[in-house]
Amino acid sequence: MDLFHTLRQSGYRLLKQLSHQLTRLVAPNCCLLCDRFGYEGEDAWLCPDCENRLPYIEAPFCQRCGSPGLASSQCPECLRHPHGFDQHRSLLQLNANVERLVHAFKYQGKRALLDSWRRWLRQKPLLVEWLATAEAVIPLPLHPMRLRQRGYNQAHLLATVIAKELGRPCLAQALVKTRQTPTQTSLSRRARLNGLRDAFATTRAAADLHGTVLLVDDVITTGGTLTAAASVLKQLQAIDRVHAFTLARTPRYRST
Ligand SMILES: [Zn+2]
Ligand SMILES: [Zn+2]
Repeated sequence: MDLFHTLRQSGYRLLKQLSHQLTRLVAPNCCLLCDRFGYEGEDAWLCPDCENRLPYIEAPFCQRCGSPGLASSQCPECLRHPHGFDQHRSLLQLNANVERLVHAFKYQGKRALLDSWRRWLRQKPLLVEWLATAEAVIPLPLHPMRLRQRGYNQAHLLATVIAKELGRPCLAQALVKTRQTPTQTSLSRRARLNGLRDAFATTRAAADLHGTVLLVDDVITTGGTLTAAASVLKQLQAIDRVHAFTLARTPRYRST
């Protein structure tokens, strides 16, 4: 019964995705969230109503992890479990709608939503100012096997856009993922940390890195993956600070 339900749900999702793609062929402006099409507006993926409802993260927030609601240098969570990175910011809170946008960005092709993210970022000058404190941009790498399956790394696409906006180099080869890691959310903190040990390594391309560097990924859930990547980068003497940016964050991610 459960299997039947799951199959029906995924079949329904597939049909919906297909009909969305077909509609997009005849009407380029087709909202991914409410299925409206032919609307007036700049965005080919989101209608103005849905765009106005995006849950942007606004100040006040923790200066270290960017957790909204607390204007302090470090929130209690950061004091309890310091991260591997020095500061983190996200554009949006992760809710069901944002999850659908990120999913489309990840699985519906290279160009999906890239211009939208760029436009939404440009609307947040304070965030752009913070991003610009970095001297180089590094996407969180995928394991080569995962990269072959998916065809592209969405974090790399995003990092390229951000680097171009800031006029900074994007050093995608500086960091590599050396082995596949299990999904982080269902594991205990200790298991997550163990699972991520030695999952990343720097390469010769990292020799150019110095000062503050910016790690980029699509979503932060536990913070464990970004912490592991940041810790490896911080072993390089020329790097002073590692900042992390994600498009979205879970309402209260558990730090590691
Ligand atoms: Zn809409
Ligand atoms: Zn914090």
